Amino acid sequence: MKDKRVVIIGAGAAGYFTAIRLKELNPQVDVLIVEKTGKTLAKVRISGGGRCNVTHDCKKVSDLLLHYPRGKSFLKKIFHDWSVQHTVDWFESNGVPLKTEGDGRMFPESDSSETIAQLLEWKAKKLGVGLRTNASVVTIVKLPSEGAYRWQINFNTGSSEMATDVVLAVGGFSKESQYNIISHLGVAIVPPVPSLFTFNIPDATLHALHGVSVQDAKVKLVGYPESYTGPLLVTHWGLSGPAVLKTSAWAARWMNEKAYCTTALVSWLNLSEDGMREMLRDVLAANPKKRIDNLTLEGIPRRLWDYILKRAETPLTKMAADLSKFEFNKLIENLCRMPFDTDGRTMFKEEFVTAGGIDLEQVNPKTMEIKQVPGLYATGEVLDIDGVTGGFNFQAAWATAATAARALAN
Ligand SMILES: Cc1cc2nc3c(=O)[nH]c(=O)nc-3n(C[C@H](O)[C@H](O)[C@H](O)COP(=O)(O)OP(=O)(O)OC[C@H]3O[C@@H](n4cnc5c(N)ncnc54)[C@H](O)[C@@H]3O)c2cc1C
Repeated sequence: MKDKRVVIIGAGAAGYFTAIRLKELNPQVDVLIVEKTGKTLAKVRISGGGRCNVTHDCKKVSDLLLHYPRGKSFLKKIFHDWSVQHTVDWFESNGVPLKTEGDGRMFPESDSSETIAQLLEWKAKKLGVGLRTNASVVTIVKLPSEGAYRWQINFNTGSSEMATDVVLAVGGFSKESQYNIISHLGVAIVPPVPSLFTFNIPDATLHALHGVSVQDAKVKLVGYPESYTGPLLVTHWGLSGPAVLKTSAWAARWMNEKAYCTTALVSWLNLSEDGMREMLRDVLAANPKKRIDNLTLEGIPRRLWDYILKRAETPLTKMAADLSKFEFNKLIENLCRMPFDTDGRTMFKEEFVTAGGIDLEQVNPKTMEIKQVPGLYATGEVLDIDGVTGGFNFQAAWATAATAARALAN
């Protein structure tokens, strides 16, 4: 067989990092990235609101894995071999130190995704990685085993490239049919559905509260077993914020089956019902002569309190001491389990990931090679792996890329 020639399809985070790590480990390998558009690292550039949330300050692998609705057990060994610390050290040793925000998200100190994109581009060029843009791969053909190359990669332009090994780093697609360059090789695809979205809620009085947020809410979808906690934000179209995004990621497939028409129950303070009763009772007892609409509940903004009172049909002019048992219970119900009917979804700051992709059963986690198709590897979002927001999706891209590179370098 000829010297190793690796063609990486896709010039995103996973494609670039596979190429760079491969050249770092074995400079002799001929590496070429091919990209269908005229732009490289397009998602890196727009990621994290233009700041690129590179990874998450989660040093323990067991904790890190808890943030992946899909791919958790597959990623275990991969994260032991390429942890968050490896990511931090790699960027730092290449002159891009990362900083950690209060919630654990890690960004370049420059606060600019351009720093990350430029580093990857500069590093790949310096290491001699080839790049071919405006080259959309239409088919990947397996060649007879006696030849010098195992693969012929055909482009929409009619031209082709030969390779000993191919890495699929094509990212996620919204439709199953878009995976045809992979599926025609017999690689099974888990049907894609969107993850990381906000809930559309057709309620004009809720929309009027846009911008109001609470720091620790709980969201539970009726009929879905789990609930998710975190900050919650009211938007012009419904509900958003980490508690909603987490729910959308974990329940991505379930909500898709329901055509995004579900009922979300919101606990505004994420307290147990007993805890909420105690808190409300204390506030009422401390302010017996205050009108109910003038009370302050810690953690509930004023405008939201008015909305909760309206939803609970509490007479606003009543004094705290005069609240009936029925009214008290209705308020508790709306503080602990306020129902919202969802009707569709909206992207969160255009950030989204695909749940679904290459079935992990077919991939060797030690090498990222497709078990049934020797010489074909996959890294990044094309795999049926996705994380919640916070830098977890890039961490999976760096780690799967590093794993493939290690295998290809040998
Ligand atoms: C707006 C936005 C913000 C985000 N912010 C963050 C963040 O801050 N932190 C985080 O962890 N995650 C973030 N994500 C998710 C993260 O960007 C992705 O998970 C990650 O970029 C996936 O990298 P990838 O290389 O696997 O795929 P991609 O970045 O999608 O790259 C795939 C590349 O393959 C090319 N390609 C596809 N098909 C072909 C073909 N047939 N021939 C040739 N080339 C092809 C595509 O054009 C593309 O350039 C964000 C996502 C979005 C959309």
